[in-house]
Amino acid sequence: MRLSRLLFVTLREDPADAEVRSHALMARAGFIHKLAAGIYVYGPMMWRVLRRIENIVRDEHDAAGCHEMLMPALQPRELWEESGRWERYVKDGILFNFRDRKGSQMCLGPTHEEVITTFVKRQVQSYKQLPVTLYQIQTKFRDEIRPRFGLMRGKEFIMKDAYSFDVSEEKMAESYALMRTVYRNVFTRCGLRFTPVQADSGAIGGCGSEEFMVDAETGEDGIAVCRASGYAANLEKAVSVIPAGAQPSVEVAMHKEPTPGAKSCEALLKLFPELPMTRLLKTLLYKVTYADVDAGESEGIVAVMCRGDREINETKLSNYLNALALDLASEEQVKAATAAEVGYAGPIGLAKHVRLLADSSVEGVKGFLCGGNETDMHYLDVYFGRDLEQPETADFGTVQAGDTVVDGDGKIEITRGIEVGHIFQLGTKYSEAMQATFSDENQKTQVMWMGCYGIGVSRVAASAIEQNHDEGGMIWPLPIAPYAVHLVQMKAGNEEQDALAQEIHDKLEASGVDVLWDERKKVNPGAKFKDADLVGIPLRIVVGRDAGERKIEWSVRTDTATKESLDANQAMERAIRLVQESGR
Ligand code: ATP
Ligand code: MG
Repeated sequence: MRLSRLLFVTLREDPADAEVRSHALMARAGFIHKLAAGIYVYGPMMWRVLRRIENIVRDEHDAAGCHEMLMPALQPRELWEESGRWERYVKDGILFNFRDRKGSQMCLGPTHEEVITTFVKRQVQSYKQLPVTLYQIQTKFRDEIRPRFGLMRGKEFIMKDAYSFDVSEEKMAESYALMRTVYRNVFTRCGLRFTPVQADSGAIGGCGSEEFMVDAETGEDGIAVCRASGYAANLEKAVSVIPAGAQPSVEVAMHKEPTPGAKSCEALLKLFPELPMTRLLKTLLYKVTYADVDAGESEGIVAVMCRGDREINETKLSNYLNALALDLASEEQVKAATAAEVGYAGPIGLAKHVRLLADSSVEGVKGFLCGGNETDMHYLDVYFGRDLEQPETADFGTVQAGDTVVDGDGKIEITRGIEVGHIFQLGTKYSEAMQATFSDENQKTQVMWMGCYGIGVSRVAASAIEQNHDEGGMIWPLPIAPYAVHLVQMKAGNEEQDALAQEIHDKLEASGVDVLWDERKKVNPGAKFKDADLVGIPLRIVVGRDAGERKIEWSVRTDTATKESLDANQAMERAIRLVQESGR
């Protein structure tokens, strides 16, 4: 492709709203254009990348016996009522929903379990038709609270979603295991460094799931990993053995302590410098929205105790409570629950309407300090069993670096990642709700066992750049780069250079190697190199002064400082070989 024929506009400045490098660089290179928050135009270069990713995805799914199809983005409310998800998704705010001109409620699909289940239940009658795994690559719509980071978190984005249907739980597990392999292959072929982790199933539901995390410092997800045991889990889900805290040397009676203005653990530690953080129990108040079978929904206030050096994990808490929504309680709600200013909540003397829970980090803590439900007052030297009952206790805590893994003595580290894929064993949640059944070998009616599997195609592109970039710009992994070779012609119009560049371009293209040929006349070599660095095409051939001797300069985008003078034929052979080896 001659660059002068391409709509090729690059900017020297990062867009003001770009918080991560992938967003800034893609916008500067004209790969994406922001239309509104979370809504982007994919330019021609971006589209080439997305199609490359899609093709890898297709290839691996087809090879595993999955079948591609396409479902509508526009979906009727009734379907979502059948599965019981309409209310949760509307309440959550994630669902784009509206009425058509006849007044029927519709939504734009954030995911497609309902549609696929309806489709498959019409198509499948007999066990002989199972297993089947269907997939599509399609635009999804989610009204994200914080659309950001460019393509990372869009309101509209491209997803590959697949759904498996099986006759039994064991067969579902087999389909799931096969898809796990498909996912590993896809991300490996895309040239990404990634970690599969145990994950929370979230609003989709079901009984087991894993996420594929691209390793990146800027990732929105925290991951707990243990190199010794191989344990890896999303922080939302991760469990650990937490280190025990120091105990008091003597047991004394519980008493009130004046704590003027001390509303945080830090402020309290200033007042009680001898007290270890592990003997300080904080109490957080949440407003919880529950789904009620009859009344629609109801609200309640929940107080959760937790050791001072630990944090509450809202995902675990929300799952435990089976909550529709979970938010920190408002100032008024805290005052009503504690009869005190915010910052003095504790387990003793809470209002009757408050449900008290405790994270397992409080287990075994003796002689602790806790809020007194009175402004400027805390209780000290409190004991469960002696001064109050230990509340209903479960794991509501977030794993921390240095904790021990549950199944060994390895230590946990916390890293960050970008979720590019998520696979679930759904079980019979949707098939039961929507009556997707089949008749088994004995003509008995059974519900199907489902799995679902998502890849954020547009997020994969962004995460590739999050993982591979430098000062100068993007660095595309060869398998998904918009072009394989960037052919930079120093002086367009020079006869020898024109001829050699044309030849390299034509021969490479004829061998299936796509070339972006910068033959712009009015752009100086320095600017051409800057642009080449920015767009990040992995292989570079520079045609310049030595064109008459058929000599070119070879480099790769990962290391543009190392340049090699090569014979043109040699360079072409090398490019062809590298492209073939990359599976492009
Ligand atoms: P997240 O936790 O990041 O919000 P999710 O768990 O809600 O994602 P899934 O329902 O598992 O997402 O969707 C499957 C895949 O789609 C995700 O693994 C991710 O790669 C991608 N994805 C989800 N939401 C977005 C979005 N708003 N923009 C771009 N890609 C997304
Ligand atoms: Mg997910």
